[in-house]
Amino acid sequence: MKIVAIEPYVLSDTLDNSFYFSQWHYSSRTICIVKIVSDTGHIGWGEGYGPASIIHAGIQHLSQYVIGQNPLETETIWETLYRRTMDFSRSGVLMSAISAIDVALWDLKGKILDMPVYQLLGGPKREYITPYATGLYFSDDMVDMGRALADEAAMYVDQGYRAIKMKVGIGVKRDIENVKQVRAAIGDDVALMIDANHAYSLREAKQLAREVEQYNISWFEEPISPEYYDQYRELRESTTIPIAGGECEYLRFGFQRLLQAQSIDIAQPDICATGGLTEAKRISTLTSARGVEIVPHTWGTGIAIAAASHFVLNLDPVPGRLVAADHLMEYDRTENKLRDQLTQSDARFEDGRLYITDAPGLGISVDADCVERHRIEVSSATIIS
Ligand code: CA
Repeated sequence: MKIVAIEPYVLSDTLDNSFYFSQWHYSSRTICIVKIVSDTGHIGWGEGYGPASIIHAGIQHLSQYVIGQNPLETETIWETLYRRTMDFSRSGVLMSAISAIDVALWDLKGKILDMPVYQLLGGPKREYITPYATGLYFSDDMVDMGRALADEAAMYVDQGYRAIKMKVGIGVKRDIENVKQVRAAIGDDVALMIDANHAYSLREAKQLAREVEQYNISWFEEPISPEYYDQYRELRESTTIPIAGGECEYLRFGFQRLLQAQSIDIAQPDICATGGLTEAKRISTLTSARGVEIVPHTWGTGIAIAAASHFVLNLDPVPGRLVAADHLMEYDRTENKLRDQLTQSDARFEDGRLYITDAPGLGISVDADCVERHRIEVSSATIIS
């Protein structure tokens, strides 16, 4: 059995309504996905998180180490890709290219063996996942920002979500007012998280944490630059709010640094960037040895969501209770036609919970028409984020 084809695609869609967060505006969504085909006629799909055209180039470069390999040997292929690139890229977008290939190989392996990926990973540890709504970004046409955010949050509660994450990082004073209004809109029973996308200094982050502790915040995500491991620890020690981070971190070695510095309460690897399912599984072993929970970062199409779902279904519970508590998973609710139209899945969202079926691989099929509709040609001169 061998791999006979690997083909990356860059897909893009212009948003009807642009939005922004503490760092930049989004007016389009662009993503690199990859298709891998075996000589048995099976197809696996993967996705990389990050600048799509560079990931595309990375996959093209790495193809030479994938073609002709046995598609069941996911770990062997991962190791080859890692060893061939570690001299130049132990983190960053080339690792996203490896991640995309790895996710596609797990999907392919599941399709070949007629088994869901969570089964290949070792089996489910829970019956369902609790997706949390990621939204509450900002837009230029918000007349009353606090009101608009509160209305959006109330909509997620009506849709059944039991946990919601909102953006902060646009000024401590304005953040406090926004958090206050959103908490008032969703009541006390819905979990609320905040995410600054590392917009703050330690001093600002401490101030915000102190002021919003009263609103029962489940975690404060990326309060400060991911480079400042020790400052994360200092912030942790100054607040009762758990500190989350890791979406900019790569491989078990990156997470080891976060853990050694005692920077975080919740680790957030992105499976489509940190090294794929193969490496995410290793990272989960590392975090469980430290009693740190994992809630993966997810931002992309149904391929990335499916990869995170299967991973979370298999994740060991931390703390180590026999009956696993509800486990959260990020569920981006911002405008994204690629997420909504690219894949079909039997997974069902019901009463705030996500149930995964035993369909083979990642349990998704990819709509070829959607790929053609959104596909863009990539030249080496094009840089797309
Ligand atoms: Ca984030």
